Amino acid sequence: MTKRVEGKIAVVTGGAAGMGRAHARLLASEGARVVVTDVDAAGGRETVDLIEGEGGTATFVEHDVSKAKDWESVVGHATEEYGRIDVLVNNAGILAFTSLQDTEEEVWDRIFAVNAKGTYLGCKAVLPAMERSTAPSIINISSMYGIIGAPNAAAYEASKGAVRTLTKAAAVDFKEFGIRVNSVHPGVIATAMTNDILADAEGTKALLGTTILDRAGQPEEVSAVVLFLASDESSFMNGSEVVVDGGYIAQ
Ligand code: NAD
Repeated sequence: MTKRVEGKIAVVTGGAAGMGRAHARLLASEGARVVVTDVDAAGGRETVDLIEGEGGTATFVEHDVSKAKDWESVVGHATEEYGRIDVLVNNAGILAFTSLQDTEEEVWDRIFAVNAKGTYLGCKAVLPAMERSTAPSIINISSMYGIIGAPNAAAYEASKGAVRTLTKAAAVDFKEFGIRVNSVHPGVIATAMTNDILADAEGTKALLGTTILDRAGQPEEVSAVVLFLASDESSFMNGSEVVVDGGYIAQ
Protein backbone atom coordinates (compact mmCIF):
# COMPACT_ATOMS: atom_id res chain seq x y z
CA MET A 1 0.00 0.00 0.00
CA THR A 2 1.27 3.48 -0.81
CA LYS A 3 2.30 5.42 2.25
CA ARG A 4 0.33 8.59 2.84
CA VAL A 5 3.20 11.12 2.78
CA GLU A 6 5.72 9.05 0.83
CA GLY A 7 8.80 11.05 -0.18
CA LYS A 8 7.70 14.29 1.51
CA ILE A 9 10.17 16.35 3.53
CA ALA A 10 8.65 17.44 6.84
CA VAL A 11 9.88 19.78 9.57
CA VAL A 12 8.31 19.28 13.02
CA THR A 13 9.13 21.82 15.72
CA GLY A 14 9.00 20.86 19.38
CA GLY A 15 9.62 17.28 18.27
CA ALA A 16 11.52 16.19 21.40
CA ALA A 17 8.44 15.24 23.38
CA GLY A 18 4.67 14.99 23.58
CA MET A 19 2.65 15.65 20.47
CA GLY A 20 5.61 16.85 18.38
CA ARG A 21 7.33 13.50 18.87
CA ALA A 22 4.11 11.65 17.97
CA HIS A 23 3.64 13.80 14.81
CA ALA A 24 7.26 13.19 13.74
CA ARG A 25 6.97 9.42 14.28
CA LEU A 26 3.67 9.09 12.40
CA LEU A 27 4.84 11.21 9.47
CA ALA A 28 8.05 9.15 9.25
CA SER A 29 6.14 5.87 9.45
CA GLU A 30 4.03 7.08 6.52
CA GLY A 31 7.09 7.73 4.36
CA ALA A 32 8.18 11.31 5.14
CA ARG A 33 11.78 12.23 5.87
CA VAL A 34 11.53 14.32 9.01
CA VAL A 35 13.61 17.16 10.41
CA VAL A 36 12.92 17.15 14.14
CA THR A 37 13.67 20.43 15.91
CA ASP A 38 13.56 21.46 19.56
CA VAL A 39 15.40 23.42 22.26
CA ASP A 40 15.76 20.05 24.01
CA ALA A 41 18.62 18.39 22.11
CA ALA A 42 18.63 15.14 24.13
CA GLY A 43 14.89 14.62 23.64
CA GLY A 44 15.11 15.56 19.96
CA ARG A 45 17.89 13.03 19.33
CA GLU A 46 15.84 10.41 21.16
CA THR A 47 12.95 11.06 18.77
CA VAL A 48 15.31 10.57 15.81
CA ASP A 49 16.57 7.30 17.37
CA LEU A 50 12.99 6.11 17.80
CA ILE A 51 12.16 6.93 14.18
CA GLU A 52 15.29 5.21 12.88
CA GLY A 53 14.52 2.20 15.09
CA GLU A 54 11.11 2.05 13.39
CA GLY A 55 12.76 2.06 9.96
CA GLY A 56 12.15 5.75 9.21
CA THR A 57 14.43 8.63 8.24
CA ALA A 58 14.96 11.68 10.46
CA THR A 59 17.55 14.23 11.55
CA PHE A 60 17.64 16.64 14.47
CA VAL A 61 18.39 20.38 14.59
CA GLU A 62 18.62 22.30 17.87
CA HIS A 63 16.22 25.19 17.46
CA ASP A 64 14.50 27.89 19.43
CA VAL A 65 11.43 28.78 17.34
CA SER A 66 11.40 32.34 18.69
CA LYS A 67 14.77 33.12 17.01
CA ALA A 68 14.90 34.02 13.31
CA LYS A 69 18.59 32.97 13.12
CA ASP A 70 17.70 29.47 14.34
CA TRP A 71 15.08 29.18 11.61
CA GLU A 72 17.81 29.94 9.02
CA SER A 73 19.75 26.92 10.34
CA VAL A 74 16.69 24.67 10.20
CA VAL A 75 15.83 25.65 6.62
CA GLY A 76 19.52 25.48 5.61
CA HIS A 77 19.80 21.99 7.09
CA ALA A 78 16.61 20.70 5.46
CA THR A 79 17.61 22.14 2.08
CA GLU A 80 21.16 20.73 2.20
CA GLU A 81 19.98 17.36 3.42
CA TYR A 82 16.80 16.91 1.35
CA GLY A 83 16.63 19.77 -1.19
CA ARG A 84 13.29 21.28 -0.16
CA ILE A 85 10.53 21.35 2.48
CA ASP A 86 7.02 20.01 1.74
CA VAL A 87 5.49 20.08 5.22
CA LEU A 88 6.00 22.34 8.23
CA VAL A 89 4.34 21.50 11.55
CA ASN A 90 4.60 24.54 13.82
CA ASN A 91 4.07 22.54 17.01
CA ALA A 92 6.46 23.96 19.64
CA GLY A 93 4.56 25.78 22.35
CA ILE A 94 4.62 26.75 26.00
CA LEU A 95 1.93 27.36 28.60
CA ALA A 96 1.62 29.29 31.85
CA PHE A 97 -1.37 28.91 34.13
CA THR A 98 -2.00 32.52 35.17
CA SER A 99 -5.07 34.68 35.09
CA LEU A 100 -4.90 37.93 33.15
CA GLN A 101 -4.64 39.93 36.37
CA ASP A 102 -1.67 37.83 37.53
CA THR A 103 0.19 37.63 34.23
CA GLU A 104 3.61 39.31 34.43
CA GLU A 105 4.77 41.15 31.33
CA GLU A 106 7.78 38.82 30.94
CA VAL A 107 5.50 35.78 30.95
CA TRP A 108 3.22 37.36 28.31
CA ASP A 109 6.23 38.24 26.14
CA ARG A 110 7.82 34.79 26.36
CA ILE A 111 4.58 32.96 25.56
CA PHE A 112 3.96 35.21 22.58
CA ALA A 113 7.60 34.87 21.47
CA VAL A 114 7.35 31.08 21.28
CA ASN A 115 3.71 30.42 20.36
CA ALA A 116 2.82 33.37 18.11
CA LYS A 117 6.12 34.80 16.87
CA GLY A 118 7.60 31.30 16.50
CA THR A 119 4.74 30.36 14.18
CA TYR A 120 5.06 33.57 12.16
CA LEU A 121 8.83 33.11 11.80
CA GLY A 122 8.37 29.50 10.72
CA CYS A 123 5.76 30.27 8.07
CA LYS A 124 8.03 32.96 6.62
CA ALA A 125 11.33 31.10 6.88
CA VAL A 126 10.24 28.02 4.93
CA LEU A 127 8.96 29.97 1.90
CA PRO A 128 12.05 29.60 -0.35
CA ALA A 129 12.39 25.90 0.51
CA MET A 130 8.67 25.30 -0.10
CA GLU A 131 8.79 26.91 -3.54
CA ARG A 132 10.46 23.69 -4.68
CA SER A 133 7.60 21.56 -3.36
CA THR A 134 4.75 20.38 -5.59
CA ALA A 135 2.19 20.20 -2.73
CA PRO A 136 3.38 22.29 0.22
CA SER A 137 1.42 22.28 3.47
CA ILE A 138 1.86 24.19 6.73
CA ILE A 139 0.11 22.97 9.86
CA ASN A 140 -0.04 25.36 12.79
CA ILE A 141 -0.82 23.89 16.20
CA SER A 142 -3.17 26.20 18.04
CA SER A 143 -5.49 24.92 20.80
CA MET A 144 -9.19 24.80 21.60
CA TYR A 145 -8.14 27.74 23.78
CA GLY A 146 -7.39 29.62 20.57
CA ILE A 147 -11.16 29.55 20.02
CA ILE A 148 -12.74 29.70 23.48
CA GLY A 149 -11.71 31.20 26.80
CA ALA A 150 -11.00 29.46 30.11
CA PRO A 151 -9.75 30.61 33.48
CA ASN A 152 -6.07 31.14 34.25
CA ALA A 153 -4.32 30.95 30.90
CA ALA A 154 -4.81 34.44 29.42
CA ALA A 155 -1.49 34.84 27.62
CA TYR A 156 -1.59 31.27 26.29
CA GLU A 157 -5.12 31.68 24.97
CA ALA A 158 -4.34 35.01 23.34
CA SER A 159 -1.23 33.55 21.71
CA LYS A 160 -3.19 30.56 20.38
CA GLY A 161 -5.89 32.91 19.08
CA ALA A 162 -3.09 34.69 17.22
CA VAL A 163 -1.98 31.35 15.72
CA ARG A 164 -5.55 30.72 14.56
CA THR A 165 -5.92 33.97 12.63
CA LEU A 166 -2.29 34.04 11.50
CA THR A 167 -3.08 30.72 9.81
CA LYS A 168 -5.89 32.32 7.84
CA ALA A 169 -3.70 35.31 6.94
CA ALA A 170 -0.96 32.96 5.74
CA ALA A 171 -3.42 30.90 3.68
CA VAL A 172 -4.49 34.10 1.90
CA ASP A 173 -1.01 35.60 1.48
CA PHE A 174 0.59 32.33 0.36
CA LYS A 175 -1.95 31.84 -2.44
CA GLU A 176 0.70 32.84 -4.97
CA PHE A 177 3.05 30.12 -3.66
CA GLY A 178 0.39 27.39 -3.66
CA ILE A 179 1.00 26.68 0.03
CA ARG A 180 -1.97 25.40 2.03
CA VAL A 181 -2.01 26.57 5.65
CA ASN A 182 -4.36 25.06 8.25
CA SER A 183 -4.59 25.06 12.04
CA VAL A 184 -5.21 22.23 14.49
CA HIS A 185 -6.93 22.88 17.82
CA PRO A 186 -6.34 20.11 20.34
CA GLY A 187 -8.33 19.84 23.54
CA VAL A 188 -6.85 18.25 26.67
CA ILE A 189 -4.08 15.88 25.58
CA ALA A 190 -1.95 13.77 27.92
CA THR A 191 1.59 15.16 27.61
CA ALA A 192 4.12 16.82 29.92
CA MET A 193 2.12 20.04 29.49
CA THR A 194 -0.90 18.57 31.30
CA ASN A 195 0.55 15.60 33.23
CA ASP A 196 0.76 17.35 36.61
CA ILE A 197 -2.91 18.27 36.53
CA LEU A 198 -4.04 14.92 35.11
CA ALA A 199 -2.20 13.13 37.94
CA ASP A 200 -4.81 14.48 40.34
CA ALA A 201 -8.51 13.45 40.22
CA GLU A 202 -9.84 16.91 40.99
CA GLY A 203 -7.43 18.53 38.54
CA THR A 204 -8.47 16.04 35.86
CA LYS A 205 -12.16 16.82 36.41
CA ALA A 206 -11.51 20.55 36.16
CA LEU A 207 -9.30 20.25 33.10
CA LEU A 208 -11.60 17.90 31.19
CA GLY A 209 -14.51 20.25 31.84
CA THR A 210 -17.18 19.65 29.18
CA THR A 211 -15.20 17.06 27.18
CA ILE A 212 -17.97 14.76 25.89
CA LEU A 213 -15.65 11.76 25.63
CA ASP A 214 -14.75 12.35 29.29
CA ARG A 215 -11.06 11.55 28.96
CA ALA A 216 -7.85 13.19 27.87
CA GLY A 217 -6.74 12.58 24.29
CA GLN A 218 -3.53 10.80 23.37
CA PRO A 219 -0.90 12.59 21.25
CA GLU A 220 -1.41 10.07 18.44
CA GLU A 221 -5.07 11.10 18.14
CA VAL A 222 -3.90 14.57 17.14
CA SER A 223 -1.09 13.19 14.93
CA ALA A 224 -3.72 11.44 12.80
CA VAL A 225 -5.17 14.86 11.92
CA VAL A 226 -1.73 16.37 11.32
CA LEU A 227 -0.91 13.50 8.95
CA PHE A 228 -4.14 14.09 7.03
CA LEU A 229 -3.39 17.82 6.67
CA ALA A 230 0.20 17.06 5.62
CA SER A 231 -0.96 14.58 2.98
CA ASP A 232 -2.55 15.31 -0.39
CA GLU A 233 -5.80 13.81 0.95
CA SER A 234 -6.56 17.27 2.38
CA SER A 235 -5.86 19.03 -0.95
CA PHE A 236 -9.02 21.21 -0.77
CA MET A 237 -8.45 22.36 2.83
CA ASN A 238 -6.90 25.78 3.23
CA GLY A 239 -7.19 28.32 6.05
CA SER A 240 -9.28 25.75 7.95
CA GLU A 241 -9.30 25.09 11.67
CA VAL A 242 -9.65 21.50 12.83
CA VAL A 243 -10.78 20.93 16.42
CA VAL A 244 -9.58 17.68 18.07
CA ASP A 245 -10.99 17.99 21.56
CA GLY A 246 -13.24 15.02 22.36
CA GLY A 247 -16.20 17.37 22.11
CA TYR A 248 -15.10 19.93 24.71
CA ILE A 249 -16.24 23.02 22.82
CA ALA A 250 -19.37 21.43 21.37
CA GLN A 251 -21.43 22.41 24.43
P1 NAD B 1 5.14 19.37 25.53
O1 NAD B 1 5.47 20.32 26.61
O2 NAD B 1 5.01 17.92 25.83
O3 NAD B 1 6.15 19.52 24.33
C1 NAD B 1 6.50 20.78 23.80
C2 NAD B 1 7.85 20.67 23.14
O4 NAD B 1 8.17 21.98 22.64
C3 NAD B 1 8.97 20.27 24.12
O5 NAD B 1 9.77 19.27 23.55
C4 NAD B 1 9.75 21.57 24.30
O6 NAD B 1 11.13 21.39 24.57
C5 NAD B 1 9.51 22.25 22.95
N1 NAD B 1 9.74 23.69 23.01
C6 NAD B 1 9.37 24.56 23.99
N2 NAD B 1 9.77 25.80 23.70
C7 NAD B 1 10.44 25.71 22.51
C8 NAD B 1 11.09 26.66 21.68
N3 NAD B 1 11.19 27.96 22.02
N4 NAD B 1 11.63 26.23 20.51
C9 NAD B 1 11.57 24.93 20.16
N5 NAD B 1 10.98 23.98 20.91
C10 NAD B 1 10.41 24.38 22.07
O7 NAD B 1 3.78 19.95 24.91
P2 NAD B 1 2.64 19.28 24.04
O8 NAD B 1 1.48 19.07 24.93
O9 NAD B 1 3.17 18.18 23.22
O10 NAD B 1 2.26 20.52 23.13
C11 NAD B 1 2.56 20.61 21.75
C12 NAD B 1 1.75 21.74 21.15
O11 NAD B 1 0.35 21.47 21.32
C13 NAD B 1 1.98 23.09 21.83
O12 NAD B 1 1.93 24.11 20.87
C14 NAD B 1 0.80 23.21 22.79
O13 NAD B 1 0.52 24.54 23.09
C15 NAD B 1 -0.28 22.57 21.97
N6 NAD B 1 -1.41 22.07 22.74
C16 NAD B 1 -1.26 21.20 23.78
C17 NAD B 1 -2.37 20.72 24.46
C18 NAD B 1 -2.28 19.71 25.57
O14 NAD B 1 -3.31 19.47 26.23
N7 NAD B 1 -1.16 19.07 25.82
C19 NAD B 1 -3.65 21.16 24.08
C20 NAD B 1 -3.77 22.07 23.03
C21 NAD B 1 -2.64 22.51 22.35
